[in-house]
Amino acid sequence: MNITIVGGGFAGVKTALKLSHDKTNQITLISDKPDFQYFPALYGTATGHSHLQSWVPLGTIFSSKLNVDVVIDSISEVDPTTKSLASKGGNVYHYDRLVLALGSVTTYFGIKGLDEFAYGIKSEEEIQKLKHHLYQAIAEEHEVEKQYVIIGGGPTGIELAAAMGQYIKRLCKHYKVPHGKVRITILEAMPRLLPKMSEKTSAKVKQRLEKIGVTVRLNEKVESASVDGLMVNGKPLKSHTVIWTSGVANNPFFTANTDHFELAKNGKVIVDEQLRTKDGIYVIGDNAATPFSGLAQTALHDAIFISKNIKRRRDGKKPKKYRAVLPPVVVPVGESWAAFEWHWIRLYGWPASLLRRAADLMGYHDILPLGQALGAWHAQIVVEDDYFTPTPKKSNK
Ligand SMILES: Cc1cc2nc3c(=O)[nH]c(=O)nc-3n(C[C@H](O)[C@H](O)[C@H](O)COP(=O)(O)OP(=O)(O)OC[C@H]3O[C@@H](n4cnc5c(N)ncnc54)[C@H](O)[C@@H]3O)c2cc1C
Repeated sequence: MNITIVGGGFAGVKTALKLSHDKTNQITLISDKPDFQYFPALYGTATGHSHLQSWVPLGTIFSSKLNVDVVIDSISEVDPTTKSLASKGGNVYHYDRLVLALGSVTTYFGIKGLDEFAYGIKSEEEIQKLKHHLYQAIAEEHEVEKQYVIIGGGPTGIELAAAMGQYIKRLCKHYKVPHGKVRITILEAMPRLLPKMSEKTSAKVKQRLEKIGVTVRLNEKVESASVDGLMVNGKPLKSHTVIWTSGVANNPFFTANTDHFELAKNGKVIVDEQLRTKDGIYVIGDNAATPFSGLAQTALHDAIFISKNIKRRRDGKKPKKYRAVLPPVVVPVGESWAAFEWHWIRLYGWPASLLRRAADLMGYHDILPLGQALGAWHAQIVVEDDYFTPTPKKSNK
């Protein structure tokens, strides 16, 4: 059976791996980037740890899978009547069975200047830019920003804020730059951090952040950004390092092909109990309007579910119904402290940080063979030495 999968992220890669076990399947995996990105580790790479934890070439993942063709292309259109896909560059691909797993994109909610003046943390390019910016200021210009601002009090903003202080201090020590009092500030528009988690966890995490020197400002609405910083609740906030971790939206592919997809209020694709659209296209991971969409574990769960159903259909068996499963969430706050939450279970401190380490190992092993998974996992504690070598001259952003 010919199966085409679009998207080389958690959902797309896991589906391709699962389906590749059946040698009668011929799989084409189309992705616009050559690497699989392990998003939960990006903040670590941005703050001086090895990039090997954050991205793995798709070619490496599928090197031993002879029935998987990896194609690097950006898909822009789908036509279910001719069962074809078209790419931005004009290539056309025909499919028998189609899986869409294109992930989310960053949105700035229309806030003026953020796209130009804020750093992002959602891709390899954004991470490299941020890392070089932090490095250049300290190592080449011997300057430490008085205030580093992270917008967004969700898991990504918190993980990054906690790791950034240590990274900046390490750079300052290495380049003998006096750092005085570096302020790392999280701005959150809501009245509490981690609005999707319990109030108890929000309070514990806030306490922990403040203990390690991060300033948390709640009910702070960013109105605009400029070269000098931000306007927040009508007042200026000076900073040359503003990092946006806040908004995500569904991939614009679906609004561009709206004739073929019914969208929920949050912009995600409405799917049936087998994660399919009316045209029989599987839509999974962040793209699907399922209860726990937006998490890597849900993307993996979806991938395993549809792989089994594709096999059942081929074997003439009745496909199963989708059941959403609440994944546990662990938010690290620095190296040896984390907050864990799952149903009624709450855990804080180093035991939760051990759980996060275990979850990461399992996350890598979901995609990579054990040896490579251990390598990527170990890279989380390896300090990358690229800040000891010269970097390109300063860019505007
Ligand atoms: C910084 C960050 C930290 C996170 N931390 C966690 C965490 O700790 N725990 C957790 O559970 N979740 C976390 N998440 C969420 C998690 O990463 C996502 O839920 C997960 O990646 C969704 O998987 P996916 O396969 O649907 O999409 P993705 O993994 O985003 O994959 C989408 C793929 O599609 C490709 N693509 C996009 N458009 C096109 C196109 N037009 N043509 C071809 N290819 C295309 C992309 O390049 C990408 O390879 C985090 C997300 C971010 C951004």
